[in-house]
Amino acid sequence: MTTTPILSLSAAELEGWLAEHDAPSYRRRQIWTWLARGVTDFAAMRDLPGALRDALAGAFRATSLTPIAVSEADRGLTTKTLFELEGGHSVEAVVMRYAERSTLCISSQAGCPIGCPFCATGRFPFGRNLNAHEIVEQAVDAQRVLAAEGRRLSHVVFMGMGEPMANYRAVVESVRRLSDPDLLGISPRRIVVSTSGLIPRIEQLAEEKIPVTLAISLHAARDELRDVLVPINRKYPVRDLVDAAQAYAEKSGRRVSYEWVMLAGVNDTERDARELGVLLKNRLAHVNLIPFNPVEDTPYHAPDRASIRAFKEKVEAQGLNVTVRDTRGREADAACGQLHERVMRTKLAV
Ligand code: SAH
Ligand code: SF4
Repeated sequence: MTTTPILSLSAAELEGWLAEHDAPSYRRRQIWTWLARGVTDFAAMRDLPGALRDALAGAFRATSLTPIAVSEADRGLTTKTLFELEGGHSVEAVVMRYAERSTLCISSQAGCPIGCPFCATGRFPFGRNLNAHEIVEQAVDAQRVLAAEGRRLSHVVFMGMGEPMANYRAVVESVRRLSDPDLLGISPRRIVVSTSGLIPRIEQLAEEKIPVTLAISLHAARDELRDVLVPINRKYPVRDLVDAAQAYAEKSGRRVSYEWVMLAGVNDTERDARELGVLLKNRLAHVNLIPFNPVEDTPYHAPDRASIRAFKEKVEAQGLNVTVRDTRGREADAACGQLHERVMRTKLAV
């Protein structure tokens, strides 16, 4: 008999199972506390009675994810893991360690249906949506790795594989679980949901009363260019998108982060800087410039440092707040989808 991943049960479902096994409901919190500390062996959950530990081990496993490749970069500060999901698709998650925080970049889908031409994830056929527990399990695994180093997972960004707003229900459910104090207790304010711009879902998210930080993958300020770089723009044009993001900002009180992957000669010109400034004028906005992380067989290149600085200054001169994202994990194939791409290529080559 195969076991069930324990996090696929809601709190109420696990408490129901416990009741059937004559165990009080507070055992659920004890089990979650062990899981959140990174314990994957039910036999090691010392404050549970032996018979309950045996019953748990017979019925459940701690996670549904199987790690199949790991790569490290930045002298061990960045760790990227490729996980196989049940059914065979794979996704990746990246742990980034900083002085004051530990951030996990998490995947919400195996592959991505949006198909941005510069993105490694968008180049494979779409696999499937992740369930909420498969998203949460990535974080529990990261917490296990970090706990062993005396660290704690403090931030989660939905910037791995997939378009979170195209897997809306599971993503919202996973955010609730990630922030549940009985499990990982990560405040929604420390969770960033990054989207290519599904307007109806942004409007829905604003109604959920979970104040996550919204990141919009803008990359171009005019429809003609954004139609190419972020194809969903043909359905949800950029001005409408910024209006929806502004409404989210006003409702949540959280400034929106606008992502701009820098592609030399494509979206780093004076004209682009000017258009970006005009588009975001008087918005609750922060602009995050991301130097392009090279993806094989794409026509794109990252601009040199001087061009990035010049672009940043031009946008700042129009009154916007701008930062340049550090290029954590470049050597670890750590931009979204890249370890997956390398492993898939190797697999295909065998
Ligand atoms: N699908 C969502 C979230 C995952 S992608 C989204 O697009 O927002 C997270 C971020 O990484 C996005 O801003 C995306 O545009 C960016 N990105 C994708 N490929 C990249 C690459 N090769 N180099 C730099 N950034 C990249
Ligand atoms: Fe999907 Fe985001 Fe990659 Fe575009 S950038 S293909 S939306 S994961």
